[in-house]
Amino acid sequence: MIKFDLICDEQHTFEAWFASNADFDSQRDAGLVSCPHCGSAEVDKALMAPSVSTARKKEASMQLAMNTGQKAAMDQLRKAVKAIRENSEDVGERFPEEARKIHYGESEERGIIGQASPDEVKSLVDEGVNVAPLPDLPEEKN
Ligand SMILES: [Zn+2]
Repeated sequence: MIKFDLICDEQHTFEAWFASNADFDSQRDAGLVSCPHCGSAEVDKALMAPSVSTARKKEASMQLAMNTGQKAAMDQLRKAVKAIRENSEDVGERFPEEARKIHYGESEERGIIGQASPDEVKSLVDEGVNVAPLPDLPEEKN
């Protein structure tokens, strides 16, 4: 028998015993494992360490909550990046030059995207130019 620390989609943590990892998987997939707190069958393993302290367990369940948040944030980020791409002029390798011009009022204020080396980005940031990395996100799967 193996004891698993489990967590449901409402972030409740609880313990349950299973014959094996595969036993847990099949029971969970069949919807037979449910949260004793809310009855949800959307459960997953929280942390595999058998001798975790209470403090460690709290940390583990918090981390999972953060991961859930990150997934939602990723969707928002993807939308934000799409909006930025649609509303910005792609200036390519002229990015550092254009960003400076806009920052110093020498060029029309607008959203731009483009490439810059890490050194160039660092000097732009040092000059107080408001640039941020545009994450290269994998295309959304339909
Ligand atoms: Zn629950």
